Amino acid sequence: MSQTLFEKIINKEIPADILYEDDISIVIKDISPQAPTHLLIIPKKVIPKLSDATKEDQEILGHLMLVAVKISDDLGLDETFRLVVNNGAKAGQSVFHLHLHLLSGRNLNWPPG
Ligand code: 5GP
Repeated sequence: MSQTLFEKIINKEIPADILYEDDISIVIKDISPQAPTHLLIIPKKVIPKLSDATKEDQEILGHLMLVAVKISDDLGLDETFRLVVNNGAKAGQSVFHLHLHLLSGRNLNWPPG
């Protein structure tokens, strides 16, 4: 099966601004930032979308959230950020390899569009 875009980034086959990496996840800058800080927190395991995750993925999903907090602390985001998961094309998902968007650095409106 062909690799997802994010697998190619994880495998260093295409370049990205990598801010953090561990055995389970990688954090990159979004190529089209929607806020002064817009990062993607991506599991190395390919889970196409959140609703494809299973009980087996529980540790990975929790890990991604904790990485978000660590990165926020490391970047001095003052514990102020939004996490977004677009699940499915109609919800705005364009890359079918699960990822959390971390947005910060501007006022974020609610409800989101
Ligand atoms: P989604 O729409 O699936 O929730 O989010 C995919 C995100 O990946 C988008 O915000 C888009 O800007 C970002 N993206 C798409 N292609 C690339 C790329 O080649 N490099 C990086 N760093 N981000 C990308």
